[in-house]
Amino acid sequence: MPVTGRYAPSPTGAMHLGNARTALLAWLHSRAQGGQHVLRIEDLDTARVRPGAADLIRRDLTWLGLDWDFEYIQSERRDLYAAALTLLPTYPCTCTRRQIAEAIHASAGAPHGPEAVYPGTCRAHHPSNPQAALRWRVPDETVCFNDGWTQTTLCQHLPSEVGDFVLRRGDGVHAYHLAVAVDDAEMRVTDVVRGADLLSSTPRQIALQRTLGLPTPRYFHVPLMTDFRGERLAKRGGAPSLAALRAGGVPAGRILSELATSLGWSVPAEIRAQDLLPIYESLLHKVIE
Ligand code: GLU
Repeated sequence: MPVTGRYAPSPTGAMHLGNARTALLAWLHSRAQGGQHVLRIEDLDTARVRPGAADLIRRDLTWLGLDWDFEYIQSERRDLYAAALTLLPTYPCTCTRRQIAEAIHASAGAPHGPEAVYPGTCRAHHPSNPQAALRWRVPDETVCFNDGWTQTTLCQHLPSEVGDFVLRRGDGVHAYHLAVAVDDAEMRVTDVVRGADLLSSTPRQIALQRTLGLPTPRYFHVPLMTDFRGERLAKRGGAPSLAALRAGGVPAGRILSELATSLGWSVPAEIRAQDLLPIYESLLHKVIE
């Protein structure tokens, strides 16, 4: 089957080196297999979208030499998410975060993972409020997947480890998980390369695909870039943007070289993105087989 990969940034601000490394790996993964590459702008959460950020991302990617064959903008695809939503058993819910925390506290069970699992308060008593969020009544199943990058398997029992999660917020915004599950299938994405922060989101996306009768791609969760303190690069932590580095006269080739070096690859001080294809190809044999 021909490979299609994607890079799916949220246009919430300028790209920093960490975003650039994930974008580079996603591009290398598609191109090293002779595959197609999709750019998908994930702009559904309008409150977090920054004007001009999508244009800046396109410019940064082009500057680095990371091209794409198709581009999609999620805010233009809301009908697709709405249609998928009608196929799933959901119920309205107006619980606040605080009420959820109190309900968990009141039931003897402490949350197991880092995330609070919604205890299902609204399952039986649906509020009839048009401002209610819609939660998915998750199937009583354990979903496992094998991550191609780390070669590890992650399993999650949906009711106890994930809980009924929101598919459409009270303000009408479709949830990231729903949009991603629909889009990856509709765009015929075969290989998802993305940051390791999304590893634990994957079983719920696979569960959505299965319930909607959609295919499941292969997943490759790549490590997030950290600073000298070992902390994840973030704009809030002061990571410089690519735009600032470019404005400061740093050549794209030097950025690419630094990104490759941070992955442990030995490369000259200035390179082009396509110079990294042979390195990635040799790595692919280990990653994919
Ligand atoms: N839009 C998400 C982000 O920027 C990534 C989604 C994905 O790759 O599945 O973190």
